[in-house]
Amino acid sequence: MKRVLFVTSEVYPVIKTGGLADVSASLPEALSRQDCDIQIILPGYPAALEAARTAGSRRKARLSIGQYHVTLWRTRLPGTAVSLWLVDCPALFDRPGNPYQNEEGQDWWDNAHRYQLFCRVAAMMASGQLGLGWAPDIVHCNDWQSALVPVFLDHLPNRPGTVFTIHNLAYQGLFSQETFRAMGLPDSLWRFERLEFHDQLSFIKGGLVYADRITTVSPTYAREIQTPEFGYGLDGLLRYRSDRLSGILNGIDTRIWNPSDDRYLDFHYGPDSLSNKSQCKARLQQQLGLEVNGAPLFGSIGRLVEQKGIDWLLAVIPPLLEKGCQFAILGSGEARYTDPLRTLAREHPEQVSLTVGYDEPLAHRITAGADMFLMPSRFEPCGLNQMFSLRYGTIPVVHAVGGLKDTVVDPGQAAGTRATGFCFERPNEDAFLHAIDRALEYYSNRKQWRHLQRNGMAGDYSWKYRAREYLALYQSILTEQC
Ligand code: ADP
Repeated sequence: MKRVLFVTSEVYPVIKTGGLADVSASLPEALSRQDCDIQIILPGYPAALEAARTAGSRRKARLSIGQYHVTLWRTRLPGTAVSLWLVDCPALFDRPGNPYQNEEGQDWWDNAHRYQLFCRVAAMMASGQLGLGWAPDIVHCNDWQSALVPVFLDHLPNRPGTVFTIHNLAYQGLFSQETFRAMGLPDSLWRFERLEFHDQLSFIKGGLVYADRITTVSPTYAREIQTPEFGYGLDGLLRYRSDRLSGILNGIDTRIWNPSDDRYLDFHYGPDSLSNKSQCKARLQQQLGLEVNGAPLFGSIGRLVEQKGIDWLLAVIPPLLEKGCQFAILGSGEARYTDPLRTLAREHPEQVSLTVGYDEPLAHRITAGADMFLMPSRFEPCGLNQMFSLRYGTIPVVHAVGGLKDTVVDPGQAAGTRATGFCFERPNEDAFLHAIDRALEYYSNRKQWRHLQRNGMAGDYSWKYRAREYLALYQSILTEQC
């Protein structure tokens, strides 16, 4: 049985800002069912320590690193049998706000120190230095917050294999040279450009340079990040390491996201009982104050940031309102997007609903109640919402990038037989509107629409097979080390 330490800065349902949290829960859970002893390590944020108190936890180690006092707690990821380790360091993690930012939405000034300490403890645990009686064969790191683990392990004899997964290359953990100096890292890491990136300290480079394998969350994104357009200046390094880089599509937790058994829905349905989906729609319209009618209802859920193509969404709403369409939008993010969306919702209360904030029950209700789901992301490493939508018979309209391209099949690609949604190629609002118009044409033909819905609902978006790809990857490292 392989032993794996999964290093992450967020995990559902303990603490979540985005898709990383979903994956950090559902992938380890799936791996634990497949002959893998996988344990998760997470910073001891207040919410995490609180969850541990509720679930029961044990103190397993105490240590000091520089000026910081650390306690390592062991608990279980709620609802699973997977062990969860918490790096409790009040000076760095006992703060309000989300993991990375204060309540005003500004990055914590000492994020480099916070995640360096987290990486140090994870590396000590991974190399058996904490005397816990358990050490992994593989350390699986995720995004920049964990990217120094392969650096710290690199020089050790008999070290575990390392995997670094890029969930979003746009977030790199960049800090000043002064911060690098203050962290006390060896100067060679800067001089030989291992962690230096255009005169800045780059955490993510630690993973990209030192990990035995690099993965990202869809095959298309794995190709895209090797191009200047999507590579953020790291495309050269990624091309250099292309023989170690692969894309494995994310899965979803099909127990939480299941229209026939969703605890947040008043009506349940499946591919053979789609009439209840209309009930979900009517209930959603009612709850959001939209007119309860048969108008096409578009859903949108996510971070309101440039990546998600919200400016294209804003551009297509007015012409679609003229056609009588409705919108149920849920998200949080930048004022340059929330302000105009608020105006639209105020001016068209029966057609546009905007909920600013994080609301999990509403996310499920929109996914079930909407007819179509809009994801015009400029880039999308994998994307989860389009898979939730497909499973809920809600037809996605997406920009053909990254994981969106890998999971949604346009009628133009599949002569209608295997189609599940609508894709647009050109990165602009006209192409987006054209794809929506094509979707509306299909929507007016009930038989065609049902066909699309059933195709999408028949897909397998679970981790079952995708987790096996990670197992094969872990094995390839272990074989190489022999
Ligand atoms: P990203 O990680 O780039 O934010 P993903 O599509 O990979 O995007 O994952 C986003 C996750 O966060 C999904 O589970 C989505 O449903 C959820 N989510 C995003 N914003 C909200 C919100 N405002 N309320 C509830 N869930 C949200």
